[in-house]
Amino acid sequence: MTQYPALYMIIDGERVSGGSRRTHAVVNPATGETIGELPLAEAADLDRALEVAAEGFRIWRNSTPQQRAAVLQGAARLMLERQEDLARIAVMEEGKTLPEARIEVMMNVGLFNFYAGEVFRLYGRTLVRPAGQRSTVTHEPVGPVAAFAPWNFPLGNPGRKLGAPIAAGCSVILKAAEETPASALGVLQCLLDAGLPKEVAQAVFGVPDEVSRHLLGSPIIRKLSFTGSTVVGKHLMRLAADNMLRTTMELGGHGPVMVFGDADIDKALDTMVASKFRNAGQVCVSPTRFIVEEDVFERFRDGFVERTSRIKVGNGLEDGVQMGPMANARRPEAMDRLIGDAKARGARLHTGGERVGNAGFFYAPSVLSEVPLDAAIMNEEPFGPVVMINPYAGEEAMIAEANRLPYGLAAYAWTDSAARQKRLAREVETGMLGLNTTMIGGADSPFGGVKWSGHGAEDGPEGVMACLVAKAVHEG
Ligand code: NAD
Repeated sequence: MTQYPALYMIIDGERVSGGSRRTHAVVNPATGETIGELPLAEAADLDRALEVAAEGFRIWRNSTPQQRAAVLQGAARLMLERQEDLARIAVMEEGKTLPEARIEVMMNVGLFNFYAGEVFRLYGRTLVRPAGQRSTVTHEPVGPVAAFAPWNFPLGNPGRKLGAPIAAGCSVILKAAEETPASALGVLQCLLDAGLPKEVAQAVFGVPDEVSRHLLGSPIIRKLSFTGSTVVGKHLMRLAADNMLRTTMELGGHGPVMVFGDADIDKALDTMVASKFRNAGQVCVSPTRFIVEEDVFERFRDGFVERTSRIKVGNGLEDGVQMGPMANARRPEAMDRLIGDAKARGARLHTGGERVGNAGFFYAPSVLSEVPLDAAIMNEEPFGPVVMINPYAGEEAMIAEANRLPYGLAAYAWTDSAARQKRLAREVETGMLGLNTTMIGGADSPFGGVKWSGHGAEDGPEGVMACLVAKAVHEG
């Protein structure tokens, strides 16, 4: 049986913990019990990590594509071998179901293998010039990266944050969420065990604001990569501005789902209900605002309520559980506040709207309808197991609602009209659009948003390009 492991930071390949360092209690969200004590970095730890990252960049920028590919493929193989342990640890820290955690391992395996191929395609170009002259454009690794990963994909987020810089020839200091450190350490360990030089990737934990100010304030760091809320993302971009850092920002969303009368409604319901309650709705691309054409509104709402009320909630390690607890105590509090506000403003609550059990952070899958647009939940990312279903009169009004918010991460639409699909593809302001599907990601496809949802995609060739800078050399 998998035991929850001891916790530490990895600085210069060394496991660092203890001393007079402060600690953070890691809690199992299914029980509310403390399962580990995480050491938090002091300024001296961060300074050491920075010096090592500078050395790591000198080493890794000169690595060959073969070396990078070997490390990435080796780490992918090790993750596969360690899949069950990694997945169980992720469930203990974050609460999601075991099958979902196993999928996270597979996402990393796919991404690392994709990047292992991509490193051979980091081409430059030669420009047309008069005889005897030559101009070339090359793409060089940007430099040491400070990467901050949140808790909702405890394995997948660190995989993204580490994979792209390593493929590009950068070094990276990862600060994963203090709620889910062991998963992040497990992913990094696979890379180190696959032969990544110890200077190239390190893991620190700490008080987030202290760590980010320290790392982003250092002249050694050349890029910030952050996944998390828009509020924190804006704060970090301001810090990054002082050192003119490159940024990749994967921020919040408020996923609109347009359901048209010409769609296969049963398929839409089956697909969207399963997708919605994945990881208890704590997913940046989670469908949230259901924008339903009025002639199918009641059928869609009632079908959603009926399917939602059948979802089995429980400890993510138990067989047959479809939704685990929320990841931390802040999330059920946010649900109570947002759903309470919506009800007070006249929304109808059909199911859920309350906590489940006396231990841990469980919240019932919840469905609201006829929610006024001035309710907080129609404007703030809910990040939880709740949907809002509202009726609309026709395509124009539905697209206007989809585009109403400053977010633009993922959007979905259900329609059998090819002409309408084309119009939606053009008109919806989003980084990713799922037409009759919720499968909007893949190792080879850019994942990221527009507007307040951020910029600079992860995954795909774009993920590696975001860690490279162009250099033009002109020879007379
Ligand atoms: P939060 O905004 O305080 O934290 C989000 C993440 O950012 C956490 O991992 C946290 O450790 C990190 N963070 C916070 N302040 C930081 C700082 N100064 N420097 C570096 N990292 C920092 O909120 P939370 O309560 O953890 O999560 C709630 C909200 O965060 C959600 O409502 C959602 O909008 C957003 N979120 C988004 C994603 C995503 O995938 N885009 C993931 C997790 C959380």
